[in-house]
Amino acid sequence: MTIFDLKPSRAAGVAKLAAFLPAMGRAYSDGRNTDLGPDQPGFVSRLSPYLRHRLITEQEVIEALLTRHSLGSANSFVSEVFWRTYWKGWLNNHPIVWLQYEEDVRLLNARKADDSAFRESVAAAEAGNTGIRCFDAWARELVQTGYLHNHARMWFASLWVFTLKLPWQAGADFFLRHLLDGDCAANTLSWRWVAGLQTRGKQYIADPENIRRFTQGRFAPTEAFAPTGFPVAETLAPPLSALPVPALPIALDPQKPTLLLLHEEDLAWESWQSLLPSNLAIVGAVALASPRVATQNPSAPVRDFVVGALHDSLGRWQHSGRQAWGVVAQAALPETLAISGAAQIVTPVAPIGPTATALDGLAAAGVPLRRLQRPWDALSWPFATKGFFPFREKIPKILRELGLPV
Ligand SMILES: Cc1cc2nc3c(=O)[nH]c(=O)nc-3n(C[C@H](O)[C@H](O)[C@H](O)COP(=O)(O)OP(=O)(O)OC[C@H]3O[C@@H](n4cnc5c(N)ncnc54)[C@H](O)[C@@H]3O)c2cc1C
Repeated sequence: MTIFDLKPSRAAGVAKLAAFLPAMGRAYSDGRNTDLGPDQPGFVSRLSPYLRHRLITEQEVIEALLTRHSLGSANSFVSEVFWRTYWKGWLNNHPIVWLQYEEDVRLLNARKADDSAFRESVAAAEAGNTGIRCFDAWARELVQTGYLHNHARMWFASLWVFTLKLPWQAGADFFLRHLLDGDCAANTLSWRWVAGLQTRGKQYIADPENIRRFTQGRFAPTEAFAPTGFPVAETLAPPLSALPVPALPIALDPQKPTLLLLHEEDLAWESWQSLLPSNLAIVGAVALASPRVATQNPSAPVRDFVVGALHDSLGRWQHSGRQAWGVVAQAALPETLAISGAAQIVTPVAPIGPTATALDGLAAAGVPLRRLQRPWDALSWPFATKGFFPFREKIPKILRELGLPV
């Protein structure tokens, strides 16, 4: 088994979390910027595919951390976990940014069909055929492993935008199709951050000496990198103005037979189900076939991870002695609801992205869908309106309100 044999199961995520626990303090803060390469364990956790699908939750990661470290001594790791929460909250508070990105990717795909020079430039970058040795190695590493170290993602995105002068949206789409942790918020907003659109006036420019230092000499670039940035346009497609009108939420009636809907955004139903009324009559669980697989054309390893994670979640439900109705596509859900005999569906809130769009579609079609939000998100997202640094100051307050010992 290599370090990249990431099994799409909660058990694998829990085991990985336990194994990384001792390294979350000083070792992480000292080493996290160094990328030793794909065949070395390195200093980071590689928990991201599990957190991305909530096979394990942010809350259980921080709870586990606090059994071994103080908030202060593991401050760096805690901050990174909250970067994820911050990006998700920020994008949910600014949904137009996601919808505009989707429009831009559609436009770029159409451009690829018409403009062979553009199509070939993007294909060469994705295949690792640009002649920039480190960039080419990271492109191949991403495709082969479904993962890149955070610093490599930053260098790669910067070279994509400023040296190769390709649209950031095409790079973000490449990442989203290949990353096992591919996440609408963390990915889109990180690419925007590199391009200087997220923190105004601040672009991330890859520097050869920085790459040499933090890859411990694996790469010592001599190619001509763009020494400075240039203004990047906010959008490619015409700016959107209107947002779709959200369907009105329905109230959960504890007396009615209820179907639990699992989806790829939140698969740790074991902790989420504590939000349900204890007398709720649950007739079984069904998993929503991945709307991301249906719409974003991900790589085979990403598809396998998502599908495996859905089956793992439903399998755990079944092993707890309860009825499971399988993994079904959005279009087949009303029929499953009818067959199950349930009168309503309850499901975790999905952050903005293909799953949320699918849930909105079901609600708009009259499916009685009730979405319940985890306290972690409910307490954090309202603070994700400005930059990360004011958000970070709220972390102790958020953790205290969740009842964590800080
Ligand atoms: C251009 C670009 C694209 C990115 N796309 C994604 C993406 O699609 N999905 C994704 O989860 N992360 C993304 N990131 C953030 C970050 O690179 C990954 O979360 C991190 O590398 C995952 O590896 P790890 O689990 O070993 O992280 P660790 O360093 O061990 O961190 C622990 C956890 O904290 C969270 N985290 C760490 N760093 C960040 C960060 N900078 N932003 C948000 N969350 C973070 C992750 O959930 C991670 O699993 C992107 C960063 C860049 C620069």
